Amino acid sequence: MQIRRLRLTGFKSFVDPADLRIEHGLTGVVGPNGCGKSNLLEALRWTMGENSPKSMRGAGMEDVIFAGTATRPPRDFAEVSILAEGAGEEIEIVRRIERGAGSAYRINGRDVRAKDVALLFADAATGAHSPALVSQGRIGAVIAAKPADRRAMLEEAAGIAGLHVRRRDAEQKLRATEANLSRLDELLGDME
Ligand code: ATP
Repeated sequence: MQIRRLRLTGFKSFVDPADLRIEHGLTGVVGPNGCGKSNLLEALRWTMGENSPKSMRGAGMEDVIFAGTATRPPRDFAEVSILAEGAGEEIEIVRRIERGAGSAYRINGRDVRAKDVALLFADAATGAHSPALVSQGRIGAVIAAKPADRRAMLEEAAGIAGLHVRRRDAEQKLRATEANLSRLDELLGDME
């Protein structure tokens, strides 16, 4: 999956709609301290489903919404869209948060669950916790990671992280089916 465009509206310091085209090859973001470079990486992770406000450097998730400055009033919502390309198809993933209303996700204009977005990115070997998204301080964290955490990073990089979620879902369905079968056995036994 190749990310082609990032569009931010009301996300952290990006109060006005901002479009960033990401071309093939290496992309660098340069600018003075505090201009919003880390906010861009956070916007990517947030749209991929990041749910820890702390890892977005906030106390609550609504802290990603533009909080206002001396000259501009705060916003009521933040929205980030990722336009990606994979297998010759374009796909747009949008996450939006409104004050007091929480987050909502869309894939190609259709309302979806957070889980659908997480699975989409996990299958493409990326996601909010992808080791490919290296923020400040992360290199040290990767080196110091415990074996279990490092295994999770490798699984994510290998694109099999989504399989764990599917396995849990399948196991739940299996348990429900087994319960139904034993109930059926009991009913059949009663009838005999
Ligand atoms: P550095 O080079 O120092 O790491 P940076 O370019 O990575 O800086 P960021 O950390 O991405 O900069 O941006 C920080 C800026 O974003 C600060 O000016 C901060 O006030 C602003 N900011 C963060 N959250 C919000 C918000 N909710 N509303 C308005 N501005 C915000």
